[in-house]
Amino acid sequence: MSLHPEITSGQKKKINQASRIDNNNICCYIDKKVISNKNDIEYHNIIPVQSNKLDISNFTVVCKKHHKEIGNLSIKEYFAKKEMDDFFKKSSLRKLNDVLKLKANKDNSNKKINIKADEKLNTVEIIFEDKRRIISNLLNCPSTGFKYFYASIPIEYINNDEKLQPRPLEINRLWDLYRHLLVNSQLTPSVCRLTANDIYLFDGQHKAAAQVWAGRDALDCKVYLEPDIKSLKETNLIAHDKLRQMPFFTSILINKWASIFEEEWKEYMEEKGFKSEEGFVQFLVKKGRKKGQAVNMIESNIYDSIIEDKKNLMVNYISDYNKSLKSPLTINRLKQAVFKKFIATPPLDIDIEDSDRLREIERRNIIKFLNLIARYSLDDVWNPDDKDDEHKISERIYLSGAFKAWSGILKDAIAAILEIYDENEKKEIFLREISKENWEEIENSINFLFNRRVWQDDSEENYNTLRLTNDSQVRRYLSRRGISVNEVLGKTGIFEDNFID
Ligand SMILES: [Zn+2]
Repeated sequence: MSLHPEITSGQKKKINQASRIDNNNICCYIDKKVISNKNDIEYHNIIPVQSNKLDISNFTVVCKKHHKEIGNLSIKEYFAKKEMDDFFKKSSLRKLNDVLKLKANKDNSNKKINIKADEKLNTVEIIFEDKRRIISNLLNCPSTGFKYFYASIPIEYINNDEKLQPRPLEINRLWDLYRHLLVNSQLTPSVCRLTANDIYLFDGQHKAAAQVWAGRDALDCKVYLEPDIKSLKETNLIAHDKLRQMPFFTSILINKWASIFEEEWKEYMEEKGFKSEEGFVQFLVKKGRKKGQAVNMIESNIYDSIIEDKKNLMVNYISDYNKSLKSPLTINRLKQAVFKKFIATPPLDIDIEDSDRLREIERRNIIKFLNLIARYSLDDVWNPDDKDDEHKISERIYLSGAFKAWSGILKDAIAAILEIYDENEKKEIFLREISKENWEEIENSINFLFNRRVWQDDSEENYNTLRLTNDSQVRRYLSRRGISVNEVLGKTGIFEDNFID
């Protein structure tokens, strides 16, 4: 909070004097326009106020309207907020390089660094393009043997590490760090690697971007010299997956796992003998991986192949993929509500050739299923700009509790259509060919489900119930409102209109 201290009338005079710019008129600092009404002259601090001692050179005149708009921010932060909002409005997928381009006028050509390491003296000389030199200690990691040094690196030499740092910046986190670093010292450095003559920053992207935004021209860095990327990549992914330092775009994480998976998969396929998902997991465990990690890798690869398929129209409604921020879904919600329920959990212990074929069928089934859902609940309806009644129906359908509950109802209904009664078999619900007739029945169920009155009910009570996180509670509620498995299947004579809502 930067609530500034009261200003005496003597001080006000001095500040007024400094604010006379336009023909000796007192002007608002924000838009430089003359403040014609004396009662509209107010005062505010330019940078955050840090001590109780009033430094009037930090104060300026603002008009009443702008003073109100600025709120608790300093003027510097107020401008930064506008600029940052604008920056993310143009594209929600922003990375450190975009910040460098905007704030440091960095072009696409990378400035190069030369390194002279002296292994005997354990020093390293860093030579910049403009002939500046830094000498630093050359250090050695006892666990990995990686060599590294610490240095303050001018920002024009910094690049975002696309290989190890695929995540975009998150506006709230960047904003918080920016405000924090305006008045606090950065405690830990950003972590980089040096390859040939380029420095790539892979950890601490938000911190680095916040520093650049705050006007720093150099960053404190820990720089690894030509490290083994694969091992850094895993360290980085594991750290972020476990620590969950920030909301992670699951989709991007999935991508990265899949690219690691590719190499190991090839290696496994070159081995002799019976092959299965289960066998692959064992192979990875033998190579020192954790079982959970290995299973996660297969699962990610399956999810990936569904999400990235061009035929998957649901992707248009996922915020991680759609630049518009008003999407009904995130990858994570889709994963929890649909993928976890409808995709057979790996590893399968059947011959890889069979399981590959079945996984492909499962993949196509899921995409078809998602497209049907989109057709009956989103296409031509989802319209966040207008927010008409149709759109609101769609919104209710995708409230957290509702989404999980109806996907569970659909799973049970589909199992009944496919005559699957065994619980274990139900776990592999889409791992099979589904006939045209059965698809028609599934489509009818979906159509029925999304045409119930409960979705039109705009009462607050309805809204609040559909948002509950306990999906079995929501499911019981939906059942009372005419959406149960039997009704979805058309197997009951009772119609919802006979219910007293
Ligand atoms: Zn103003």
